[in-house]
Amino acid sequence: MTVRVAVVGAGIIGLATAWALERRGFACLVFEQGAPGGGQSAGESRIFRHAHEDPRQSELATRARSGWNEWEEEFGSPLISDDGALVIGQGGVERLKNYSRITGAEVSELGPEDLAEALPILASFEGPAMIDPGAGAIRSRLTLANLISAAGLNLVPEKVESVTSRPGGGVSIATSFGLREFDAAVVSAGAGTLGLASTAGLDLPIETRAHVRLTAPLKEPDTPPRLACVQDSSGAFGEAAAYGSPLRGNREYAVGLSTTTALDPEGGGMAELDRIALRTRAYISKALPGLDLSGAVPFQRWVTELPWSPDGLAIWQSGDSYFIAGHNLFKLAPVLGKVLAESVSEGRVPEGFRPEDRLGDPRMGAAESAPAS
Ligand SMILES: Cc1cc2nc3c(=O)[nH]c(=O)nc-3n(C[C@H](O)[C@H](O)[C@H](O)COP(=O)(O)OP(=O)(O)OC[C@H]3O[C@@H](n4cnc5c(N)ncnc54)[C@H](O)[C@@H]3O)c2cc1C
Repeated sequence: MTVRVAVVGAGIIGLATAWALERRGFACLVFEQGAPGGGQSAGESRIFRHAHEDPRQSELATRARSGWNEWEEEFGSPLISDDGALVIGQGGVERLKNYSRITGAEVSELGPEDLAEALPILASFEGPAMIDPGAGAIRSRLTLANLISAAGLNLVPEKVESVTSRPGGGVSIATSFGLREFDAAVVSAGAGTLGLASTAGLDLPIETRAHVRLTAPLKEPDTPPRLACVQDSSGAFGEAAAYGSPLRGNREYAVGLSTTTALDPEGGGMAELDRIALRTRAYISKALPGLDLSGAVPFQRWVTELPWSPDGLAIWQSGDSYFIAGHNLFKLAPVLGKVLAESVSEGRVPEGFRPEDRLGDPRMGAAESAPAS
């Protein structure tokens, strides 16, 4: 008998899950209240990086990289740039060294000249710097377009109001168009997951926060042959942590401060978004003088974080429904889609992804990776 699965949310995670479910022979409907890929997954360019504070996530990112390679083959297009990702500053360098120690992957230290070659728009920087050549910029729009066309026939343009377990098994999905029944459901609704989880009786510790990014064109009219991503923890340019990633074509670069901000949109908190955009402009003027600030365009989205880490993620289960939440999930999408498909197929969330595992919490990760005494 065909197992019918409802996926709620057509962001990168819902689409990756639908793709993984279809490949396992499940029949999926993907419910989306707005434009597919228009939530946290919107906008061109995301950083794919291996190194994380929690060693378990560095291993997961390594699995995700293989998943990206599979997608590149399946969709017939390169989805991650091959220009690598830089870290500048001691914190990032230590993280990258740890990743290399755990996985044996090759990473290299860079001097000022190598840095200028890898990221010609960067101001001169004398401090510690390294590059992860297997990391790079995710072509996020192309990825979404490929997955949307793969899931195209099964997209339902409806807002889901509730996700409830049926007595005896299965799930009822209520939309404004009525009630539908499924054998299982995966809820990957981004900022909508908190409310939908409450209809299933779950109280998830999701914090909805704001993130602002600016995209600016390069000053130099000639396209540089290389444009790496960067994560800056040096503090040398007036911000404790910032990141940048090139857009497809290497004519524009997206830059953000690494922290997200708690805001009360109804309580005048929106003015804070302008202040973050101003700080980001000031950072760009110091750190990335190769960008033309006069053409910079801001991009703002609500993102969802878990309390134990900015990279935290978990999957909650209620009956035959699975709810995923976390931040910085784009790079992990191919593997998270498979993990959610496995949850449906096995009837339980695999170990390591449950809330009690606190994936992303460096203390839990270090404790688990420590050799037994
Ligand atoms: C500016 C920015 C930069 C980022 N940079 C990186 C990065 O460099 N690397 C990285 O890995 N990650 C990054 N992230 C985070 C990453 O983009 C997100 O973690 C990821 O896109 C989340 O995908 P999602 O599918 O879970 O959520 P979403 O993309 O938000 O998708 C959820 C979907 O569910 C729909 N929905 C909600 N409620 C309902 C409902 N009731 N019924 C039907 N549909 C519903 C929404 O409309 C939405 O389309 C960044 C995020 C932003 C905003």
